[in-house]
Amino acid sequence: MSTRRILLKRGALAAFSAAVFNFVVLRPAAAMAMMSKKQAAYQDTPHSGEQCAACCMFIPGDPGHCTMIGGVISPHGWCKFWQAGPNDTCS
Ligand code: SF4
Repeated sequence: MSTRRILLKRGALAAFSAAVFNFVVLRPAAAMAMMSKKQAAYQDTPHSGEQCAACCMFIPGDPGHCTMIGGVISPHGWCKFWQAGPNDTCS
């Protein structure tokens, strides 16, 4: 077998291993494609007293993130999937 074929097989094996690691080891929410802000009806302002800072899917940080919605998430934002609870506990 040529060196090139061996390298290609090793590359394919490494890619497959990384994919398996993503789906088995990482949290399912992190491995899945993130939902867009538009799909979630995300807004940068609170809604009826609800905001990301009090949502169980919010991941505090600078910037903040969400286990379900992709991109930077404001602690003062909100989306239609808001769920009360301590941050990063319902993913
Ligand atoms: S799921 Fe929660 S933390 Fe994520 S964007 Fe919606 S309200 Fe914010």
